[in-house]
Amino acid sequence: MEKNEKVKKEDEEKKLSIEDIPGVGEATAEKLRENGLDDVMAIATASPKDVSDLTGIGEGAIAKIISAARKIADIGNFETGEEIFQKRKDVLRLTTGSQNLNNLLGGGLETQSITEFFGEFGSGKTQIMHQLAVNCTMPEEKGGFNSDVLIIDTENTFRPERIIQMSKYRELDSDEVLRRIHVARAYNSHHQILLGEKAGEMAKEYKAKLLIVDSLTSHFRSEYMGRGSLSERQQLLNRHMHDLLRFGTLQNAVIAVTNQVAARPDVFFGDPTAPIGGNIVGHTATFRIYLRKGKAGKRIARLIDSPYLPEGEAVIQVSEDGIIDGT
Ligand code: ADP
Ligand code: MG
Repeated sequence: MEKNEKVKKEDEEKKLSIEDIPGVGEATAEKLRENGLDDVMAIATASPKDVSDLTGIGEGAIAKIISAARKIADIGNFETGEEIFQKRKDVLRLTTGSQNLNNLLGGGLETQSITEFFGEFGSGKTQIMHQLAVNCTMPEEKGGFNSDVLIIDTENTFRPERIIQMSKYRELDSDEVLRRIHVARAYNSHHQILLGEKAGEMAKEYKAKLLIVDSLTSHFRSEYMGRGSLSERQQLLNRHMHDLLRFGTLQNAVIAVTNQVAARPDVFFGDPTAPIGGNIVGHTATFRIYLRKGKAGKRIARLIDSPYLPEGEAVIQVSEDGIIDGT
């Protein structure tokens, strides 16, 4: 399929509303919407039990709706290896600022994928996001995309001062770099989801080839506490991540997200370094990088679960100048 055709097709899919699903009348649509299920794809990929629990509609009826949604959402299309290979040829790589980390990632952060950085507080996630933002504005021959950047900032940790320091070290015009970075504060998870949806529109205006969400999970984590709300949280996160991935595919952009680690409350002797969001985040992020602190500003980045790169580690340094190789 030609690229433009593909984009057009995806735009058409986007216009489907949940009332277009056979079997979904006004009352059902309202119940689905009330529970955040206002998107055909979200329903098509949900489990009958989760939706039934959320809406109070019987599981049998929901199963029929989900099956109908799958038909109209046109998921489960097979592509030939050749078509996929063709798409892979468009993939670009964004430098991280550290050659060690670039090598670990096969050259840098890939477009059309989500790359997740997770680690404890202070492990350098936000510093790396600042560095990626600066790098994205750099010319292609320096490993950048010569393009604008969108940042969804959920913890109010974006600091222009850091952008200026990092720009100076790379001999960039810091005013110009700041002009190319567009930051939106997300006040809660709902707002964050809306900003994720809006990113596509914004990119037409700015041609942004990097979308950062720092942090992906903090609002979801604090707003959906306890077991009862877990399935709702996972569904919303799933939808949000698919919006992000869609942006990455349509714009041929890098998606970089951060995630905290936490002991799992349901496992008494749980791994204290498990990333939040469980399977949903893990399955949607193509690259997961675990950051841990070393001595004197050093950080060890470990690549986990890559589809085609070997597991390994890289040492980086978080410095006043930004992210550089660690020794
Ligand atoms: P998080 O993983 O919680 O997002 P950050 O990315 O905010 O962590 O990392 C904070 C760490 O980054 C600080 O503890 C410090 O080591 C380092 N850092 C922040 N600013 C500077 C700076 N100007 N110069 C050197 N190191 C810095
Ligand atoms: Mg942070």
